[in-house]
Amino acid sequence: MKNIKIGGILDLSTVDYPKKTAAVVFMQGCNFRCPFCYNPDLINGKGKEISIKEIVENIKKKDFIDAVVITGGEPTLQPESLIELCRQLKENKFLVKIDTNGSNPLLIKELIDKKFVDYIALDVKAPLNEKYLDVIKVKNKDFVNKIRDVIDILKNSSIEYELRTPIVPGLNDSPKDLEQHGNDVKDAKIFILEQFTPENGTLDKSFEKIKSPSYNDLKEIAKYFKNKKVVIKAREVGEQEVSRINCGCN
Ligand code: SF4
Repeated sequence: MKNIKIGGILDLSTVDYPKKTAAVVFMQGCNFRCPFCYNPDLINGKGKEISIKEIVENIKKKDFIDAVVITGGEPTLQPESLIELCRQLKENKFLVKIDTNGSNPLLIKELIDKKFVDYIALDVKAPLNEKYLDVIKVKNKDFVNKIRDVIDILKNSSIEYELRTPIVPGLNDSPKDLEQHGNDVKDAKIFILEQFTPENGTLDKSFEKIKSPSYNDLKEIAKYFKNKKVVIKAREVGEQEVSRINCGCN
């Protein structure tokens, strides 16, 4: 019986899988050290081990659940457990969404090829250059190439996906960075701009003093992103789409 290391399970979320009711599994461990991370307790890899069968059996008891979101931490750091969890969830007809930092393109491809995942949310936290390493606080250029690979895998797949970033004032919102960032993600159909909200704690405590960008700040920042659909997530408005009219026919 295979186990998985988790930080916890949320029984019901209406915001983590588009238009579905979902359970959320928080997997333990992360290979990035983003100073603005909202889940510092999930990145050290400590946590409780639980059997995958037990997780799936518990979710099955909740007949109001359509989907399961697997997030972290970084779910791909437990590759065999992640594959088995997704396999069992699909066997039980749940929709499966994975939130990833993009550091394991081969595993993402395997999960897509096996049809074990329906939706991927990929964090692209900054322009895909040296700046990225400043933002994730890990000096390993390979990660940037891997995230590019995941973007290509998603673009060439038929599954639903979104790219997303939290906008952290002073860290990833300079015009120069946004120009490049917009260019790096321009082919994604959906791009999500998230409001940085540090009130519940961050990995680097100094980030708790940073003021959240306002909805209007995010609207200005959205101009750098030319995707077909750009969505702003901010507490003032919930979720708001900034539509792009690309031609006369839509
Ligand atoms: S915000 Fe960064 S450090 Fe935190 S879980 Fe996500 S990738 Fe890991």
